[in-house]
Amino acid sequence: MRKRLTDFRWGLDGSPQEMLIEDGRVLARGPSVSAADAQTESLHGRTLLPKFVDAHCHILPTGLDLQKLNLGSCGTHEAVLDAVRDRHATHPDGWLLAVHYDQTRYDGGRHLTRADLDAISAERPILLRHVSGHSGIANSAALAVAGVGAETLDPAGGSYRRDPSGAPDGVLLENALERVSAVVPNPSLEEMVEAILEAGAEMSDVGIGCACDMMTGRYDLELEIAAYRLAAERGMPIHTRLYVQWSRVFGPRGIGPEKLRELAVPPSGSSKSVGIGGIKIFSDGAIGSGTAAIYGSYGPEAGDRLRSSGQLIYSPEKLTEMVLRADEAGFQVATHAIGDYAADLVMDAYEATGSPSMHRIEHAMILSDAQIERLANLDCIVTFQPEFLMRFGHSYRRQLGDERASRLKRTRSLLDAGIRLAFSSDRPIVSGDPMDGVRMASDRPDGFDPAENCTRFEALLAYTKSAALASGVRETMGSLEPGMPSDFHVLGSPIPEVIRG
Ligand SMILES: [Zn+2]
Repeated sequence: MRKRLTDFRWGLDGSPQEMLIEDGRVLARGPSVSAADAQTESLHGRTLLPKFVDAHCHILPTGLDLQKLNLGSCGTHEAVLDAVRDRHATHPDGWLLAVHYDQTRYDGGRHLTRADLDAISAERPILLRHVSGHSGIANSAALAVAGVGAETLDPAGGSYRRDPSGAPDGVLLENALERVSAVVPNPSLEEMVEAILEAGAEMSDVGIGCACDMMTGRYDLELEIAAYRLAAERGMPIHTRLYVQWSRVFGPRGIGPEKLRELAVPPSGSSKSVGIGGIKIFSDGAIGSGTAAIYGSYGPEAGDRLRSSGQLIYSPEKLTEMVLRADEAGFQVATHAIGDYAADLVMDAYEATGSPSMHRIEHAMILSDAQIERLANLDCIVTFQPEFLMRFGHSYRRQLGDERASRLKRTRSLLDAGIRLAFSSDRPIVSGDPMDGVRMASDRPDGFDPAENCTRFEALLAYTKSAALASGVRETMGSLEPGMPSDFHVLGSPIPEVIRG
């Protein structure tokens, strides 16, 4: 049955359009489409958009977090402890894991300690993760499983907060949280499938039709790929593209590129695809923890730009070698580079491949005019996460000072330079509703230079057509051209407001 949708505004430019669809495909779209035998449905002036593509997020971790106790609505220590006590009663097995703990919002910013959690259970491991992901609270059982005691030294890049006797009091900072998290048992295949389906449902609810998992392989690569395929076979509502950690493919115990291709067979009997998007590499850290590799110094003054600060994960030579290995094996590379120093090294590595336009830079939060020009010349793809400005603005200002922070994520400059810019969420560290990202990019929060705003339509394009291009799905997603699947959604309001341009 042919269907003709009329009286809608095209979400990528606001023009009045019509669309003809049949059997899940677009036959035609334009100012007016005609088909004598089609059933007509008016959308009453509302906005019709291609389904969003989230070019950079973490699908399995989103779902696993949904299965944990969420402390986001707690406003006091008592409320946190009540929620943990309830959870202990209703889910008595295994580790008790909670997310979205945030002591900065209550009780004078004072942390809970292991003694508070031991009062609920000293035998069962309990671990609360801070909403920032940079700290946590463990009870005595969790510390014991991790082998952490009074004589345990702090790990590099982290610390166990201690009581006057020197014993860890349960507050875990940075890599100390990683140490304890590392002993939490991995999810089983069934738990992974459930988590992926839950994440898919939540993403589909906000209009996402395809998402890239940007670090597949954190537990067990083969099991994770199997879980994504099983989820698709059991009704996953969105397409998924997996960007696999470099070491899991090319490292000493990696499965190798041939095996990766073998594992990526399409799921059977599913309308949603699971594909290998490419290879993920980290080149530096984050601004909030002072580990993004930047020119100059952290703090209110940038200082001497001839020196660099922060942390490179690999030497420039090693990074280039890694990128070349993945490129030679035929994969798109997506490299996390937050600082401007890291961005230059990633551009060097991409340039060395001879095909820099194939590859992506993730985040690219700090860029000079000269770097934007270089990016445009290399024609690299860039992905931004506009929600970060709202979510982490205070820590950016603390680390970089107001002036440098205000120029983070230079959306307008990148678009004006003709760079292919895709938007994404990086959920679960943010809520992940694409419309929140669209708002943040087109109307930057206070403290961020409004000259870097894009228009609403440009933001919607970056979250659909450009994100599909970045994710290798432009033939099927993001633009609703004739012949493509009719993966669209309709916004409740008539038309998104244009903030600028
Ligand atoms: Zn990420």
